[in-house]
Amino acid sequence: MISYSRQHISEEDVKSVLDVLRSDFLTQGPVVPAFEEGIAEFCKAKHAVAVNSGTSALHIACLALGVGPGDWVWTSPITFVASANCARYCGAQVDFVDIDPSTYNLSVERLAEKLQRASTEGRLPKVVIPVHFAGQPCDLRGIHELSKQYRFAVIEDASHALGARYCESPVGDCRYSDIAVFSFHPVKTITTAEGGMAVTNDSGLANKMRMFRSHGITRDPESMSGTPDGPWYYEQTLLGYNYRLTDLQAALGLSQLSQIQSFIDKRTELARRYDGKLQSLPLTLPVLRPDCRSSWHLYVVRVQPDAHRRSRAKLFSALRECGVHAQVHYIPLHTQPYYRAHAQTPQKLREAERYYEEAISLPLFYDLKEGEQDQVVDCINRSLSGSG
Ligand SMILES: *Cc1c(COP(=O)(O)O)cnc(C)c1O
Repeated sequence: MISYSRQHISEEDVKSVLDVLRSDFLTQGPVVPAFEEGIAEFCKAKHAVAVNSGTSALHIACLALGVGPGDWVWTSPITFVASANCARYCGAQVDFVDIDPSTYNLSVERLAEKLQRASTEGRLPKVVIPVHFAGQPCDLRGIHELSKQYRFAVIEDASHALGARYCESPVGDCRYSDIAVFSFHPVKTITTAEGGMAVTNDSGLANKMRMFRSHGITRDPESMSGTPDGPWYYEQTLLGYNYRLTDLQAALGLSQLSQIQSFIDKRTELARRYDGKLQSLPLTLPVLRPDCRSSWHLYVVRVQPDAHRRSRAKLFSALRECGVHAQVHYIPLHTQPYYRAHAQTPQKLREAERYYEEAISLPLFYDLKEGEQDQVVDCINRSLSGSG
């Protein structure tokens, strides 16, 4: 069976986790701060806050920006549910901006139109969460300009995009955003099993996120309202969570981070190989903006629909029969029962819905062998020529 993605674990990775297991601290030791420093340095951000998932990172990012009841948060419909759920955890309303039909990222033109309408209705968003879909950065400059004009904050959901580059700067440097968020789930660029990170250049936001990560407790006298009556003293000043990453996970993350360039190089090479082998088939292949470098989290192709709109389903089943577990990323969020029930107005997002009917993610991961990739391509060839 060939799955759409999986982790690569080296002997070095195993050894670094075992070292922590034999050390004094399994959690709240020295490895989490070292991993935070490693990620901050890698993305050229000032601060990094490690948490137990990408979802938790999105949640504390919203909390630190003050998202609450009565606020609106906008995101892309073509993303994992967590990009929107983080706003709902804070009691805010969610709305969606349709995608760009070629990159599948949130469309800046649609965003501009929607902001103009919302501004006349007095319903501007407090935060917009663009998602770097499949590892290709969004048009961050365009979004940044609009954020100045309409005064909203930007959280980049960069779960797919650790190691990607936008206009020659690394995703996560937060040049055009307030906070960027990464996930270290096993299918992502590097893994800690479960884990996530929020990066920012704003020390105030970083401090708040650290508080929300750990029960709302501070040991810093500067942030206390009372005076410490002893060295044991700490204060809980807000309602936080236990969203901490463990040192075991951070050790895996640090070790994985040291291999990230080879991970991305391999994914890029495999993506180019798909490009070459699939170009003459009736498929729409990934389109990259010239000013970006993708981290190649996903390789998504679109199948031209037949009269019965069964082409994608047929290809998906044909791949299953060849032992290939492709995936579909994603079912548009505004069509999920939860968001239908909680959306303010039912809406049609034409590009997202068209995309969903045609999209399929092919296997792409570090350990995918060229022979296996050829098997995937042969199977697609046979299926699309009608004999599969
Ligand atoms: C993986 C992912 C998340 C959530 O990450 P977890 O670490 O699984 O909580 C959020 N957004 C997107 C776009 C993702 O792909």
